[in-house]
Amino acid sequence: MPELPEVTVIVNSLNKKLKGLELSGIEYDWPKKFFWGRFSIKDLRGKKVERVRRIGKVIVIEVSKGPKAKISHLRGVILEEIAVVIHLKLTGQLIYEDKQSRIAGGHPIPPLNLPVPNKTTRVTFSFTNGGPTSLKLRGASHLYFNDLRKFGWVKIVENKESEINEAIGAELGPDPLLMKFEDFRDRLKKRGQKKIKQLLMDQKFVAGVGNIYSDEGLWWAKVHPKRPALSLKDPEIKAIFEGVRKSMKLAIKKGGSSVNSFVGSGGEKGLYLSFAKAYHMTGKPCGRCKTAIVREKMGGRSAHYCPSCQKIS
Ligand SMILES: [Zn+2]
Repeated sequence: MPELPEVTVIVNSLNKKLKGLELSGIEYDWPKKFFWGRFSIKDLRGKKVERVRRIGKVIVIEVSKGPKAKISHLRGVILEEIAVVIHLKLTGQLIYEDKQSRIAGGHPIPPLNLPVPNKTTRVTFSFTNGGPTSLKLRGASHLYFNDLRKFGWVKIVENKESEINEAIGAELGPDPLLMKFEDFRDRLKKRGQKKIKQLLMDQKFVAGVGNIYSDEGLWWAKVHPKRPALSLKDPEIKAIFEGVRKSMKLAIKKGGSSVNSFVGSGGEKGLYLSFAKAYHMTGKPCGRCKTAIVREKMGGRSAHYCPSCQKIS
């Protein structure tokens, strides 16, 4: 599943491409995973994309209600807008194409360079660049949401945190790149015996960390993945907080990552895995002490760590 850095990379590129375009149509072949809520295509057609942003691993395309809509700001939330909320889940991809460019991100199967639409395409968003009809046609572009296994979804809601949270179906924890250390520490201390790797991957604890960045963050912090939250001392908690952020920032800089060579939004391969310290490095020497990285089953997932730097006690 794409984690925070991968989704950030897609979102940053989509924001550049979609901002200012007008939505001209939406087609989908999987109605079970497309939720209109109280909106319809009439609310969206001809409306302008204000920006594309990320909440946890979820992508939010903000569409204005129109040039005449009164936009007011309240606690940083732009009201009177509609949000197209997209969750890629396990196998989702987003591919944007116009006459000059193509950007793609998400799960690498099927290959992100296949022509679109294809048989995994669930939703097609069409855009124009506005203006007179002749120019509109010339500027036509599309965003395809492909999903091989159909776990992903699209929901149309009002652009309000409460509605978006409801669409996501859970109160997501804070964003590890935006939250303060004190908040991270206090939340962690309330989680008792929960093992630190599992805690980091719990989206209600922090949003956007999965298998990759929990392994990487714990390696940087020299903390064993099975340590109970309560056993961690403040300096260790600080090191975990910084380790997770450091590995995520590095991945964003490198264009994302994935087991099967995540393809970044420019179409080129994400490079982060070649810099990974623990994740999928089983048998390879630890970057600090040269001990072989081990892999251990942990609640249905695998933890990768250095048995020498990251001791259980
Ligand atoms: Zn080591």
